[in-house]
Amino acid sequence: MLQAIELDYVGCKIVITEEVLMKMIRYIQIGFKDPESGGVLTGIIYDGEIRVTGCSVPTRYDKRNRYNFIRSAKSAQTFINTRFAISEGIEVYLGEWHTHPEDHPTPSGIDIADFKKTIQVSRINSETTLMMIVGRKGFYIGVYKYTILIQQYSRPILNITK
Ligand SMILES: [Zn+2]
Repeated sequence: MLQAIELDYVGCKIVITEEVLMKMIRYIQIGFKDPESGGVLTGIIYDGEIRVTGCSVPTRYDKRNRYNFIRSAKSAQTFINTRFAISEGIEVYLGEWHTHPEDHPTPSGIDIADFKKTIQVSRINSETTLMMIVGRKGFYIGVYKYTILIQQYSRPILNITK
């Protein structure tokens, strides 16, 4: 079983739930032809804790290949709206995730530029946002305040049950 990731962040804790991690690892790029996958992250902001509780998965409207993933803005918005509604307005957009065909992923220059652009054009409910990358053996998590990178973390993916 995968355990939730808990990160010590400036004055608060960031938790990425087991449910979210389990959803993501189904898209790890193990095969030579597996395309990149990704989506948006949603979660709940408590006093002293940011809890990532939702992640959207690829839809047929996304553009995907081995080294690129461009998500459909429309399906992402539908996911965000649904999570917002079923949580009665407490679960909000928290960032983006995608996979990389490398063991221990780090963001590319394009990833960083795209992420900042997305944050700038999105209606953000949280000043803290996350960029998560799922590699073959590890997770990368970049924590941003608006478009400024504040901290980065790497965590191993243990006990894959793909
Ligand atoms: Zn990338």
